[in-house]
Amino acid sequence: MADPLHIVGGGMAGAEAAWQAAQAGLDVVIHEMRPQTGTFAHRTDRLAEMVCSNSFRSDDDEQNAVGLLHWEMRAAGGLIMAMADENRLPAGGALAVDRDRFAEAVTARLLDHPKISLDRAEITSFPADGRWIFATGPLTSDALGQAIRAETGAEALAFFDAIAPIVHADSVDLTRAWFQSRYDKGETEEERTAYLNCPMDRDQYDAFIDALLAAEKTEFHEGETAGYFDGCLPIEVMAERGRETLRHGPMKPVGLTNPHAPDIKPHAVVQLRRDNALGTLYNIVGFQTKMKYGAQTSVFRMIPGLENAMFARLGGIHRNTFLNSPTLLDAELRLRSRPHIRFAGQITGVEGYVESAAMGLLAGRLAAAEHRGRSLPPVPATTATGALVAHITGGADARTFQPMNVNFGLFPPVEGLRAGRRGRRDRYKAYTDRAKADWTAWLAHG
Ligand SMILES: Cc1cc2nc3c(=O)[nH]c(=O)nc-3n(C[C@H](O)[C@H](O)[C@H](O)COP(=O)(O)OP(=O)(O)OC[C@H]3O[C@@H](n4cnc5c(N)ncnc54)[C@H](O)[C@@H]3O)c2cc1C
Repeated sequence: MADPLHIVGGGMAGAEAAWQAAQAGLDVVIHEMRPQTGTFAHRTDRLAEMVCSNSFRSDDDEQNAVGLLHWEMRAAGGLIMAMADENRLPAGGALAVDRDRFAEAVTARLLDHPKISLDRAEITSFPADGRWIFATGPLTSDALGQAIRAETGAEALAFFDAIAPIVHADSVDLTRAWFQSRYDKGETEEERTAYLNCPMDRDQYDAFIDALLAAEKTEFHEGETAGYFDGCLPIEVMAERGRETLRHGPMKPVGLTNPHAPDIKPHAVVQLRRDNALGTLYNIVGFQTKMKYGAQTSVFRMIPGLENAMFARLGGIHRNTFLNSPTLLDAELRLRSRPHIRFAGQITGVEGYVESAAMGLLAGRLAAAEHRGRSLPPVPATTATGALVAHITGGADARTFQPMNVNFGLFPPVEGLRAGRRGRRDRYKAYTDRAKADWTAWLAHG
């Protein structure tokens, strides 16, 4: 095989990248370490194994950003979507699959492909030459994780995430919350008003702490905590250490004046920080948590100003190997320091089976175009694939970068549509219509 494309990792992203590149005519070698080297979550030697839930989430391509990503991958001839459709189980509006048949089908289709071969081996170092896509996922093997760290520096490769919940800015009640940075710090007006603040009085704070302590939590999986350190405690653990701990930590009420009640000093303040360049998303600062998703929604809606908050993503802490992509990767998912190496999948800082497969699809297509000596125009940021890649390689704040799933908050707004809850259906339809047209046009470039 002359000058093949090497893909490390045969998970969601690697499988899709291999399929796209092979369909475009490239010879592909997939290097997959299982079954010789396993992870705490994988159980089989199959490619595209689903390690936990068997759902690809909503299949609604008009009103849901994940459903739109399904649509885009189907339009691009994606293998993951085709095999999911073939092995679909009844699940209402969600796309759930028979996980065994799904992974068997993906494996069989890849192994049957005349352009693809499979090398069952762990890759432990960075190659000096050749074309590569690293798609080794959240559980990248230790040896390779160390090799990546040696290249990127310790600050730029994380082994755990610490995800604070993210809300849509237009769902925050600005009659209760206000924009201000602590002590009005900053050179520009934008910096002096970089945070959204939600005040609490003593009763609200006490009720909030009680709710945190009572909420249902998720546990780490067996084997997941190896290497976990205390640097990033969940808020409920901080609350367990003392009722006042949060008031002296992320909820300290200092350096802030509430313009809605300037004479009343808040007992505690929850701060939200801008999460994307568009200013459509805000994360709740320091609120990484292992509360269950249902509990998070009700507990966080107790915060004054967030009673009607719409969450773009909820919080979590997981074993998760991921790059600081905004600093390390270019818009084509290439490592800036070694452009012959691309990254794809969850290791790029996206989260979820669908998002990971989508980044694999993109990396495979970009590698194929490069091989043919062509360069594709940038994926429009108005598409789900484009919004996601634009976020991880540019739109996100590199200093606080955490994994992201696809959501409409990442999309450039459509002008002239009604904001807020009432306009949501029309807005989402406008986003998905625009995305479908722009994605179809982009695919036509080859
Ligand atoms: C415990 C756990 C539960 C999760 N639950 C869900 C869920 O319910 N829903 C959801 O959407 N997402 C879930 N995720 C996230 C999910 O893993 C990803 O969304 C998705 O699988 C990522 O796809 P990927 O291709 O990037 O990585 P993976 O699918 O993990 O594939 C990476 C592949 O690379 C291989 N590999 C690693 N290192 C090497 C190496 N050095 N050499 C060769 N091969 C290597 C691995 O064996 C693996 O096959 C979960 C993750 C974990 C860890």
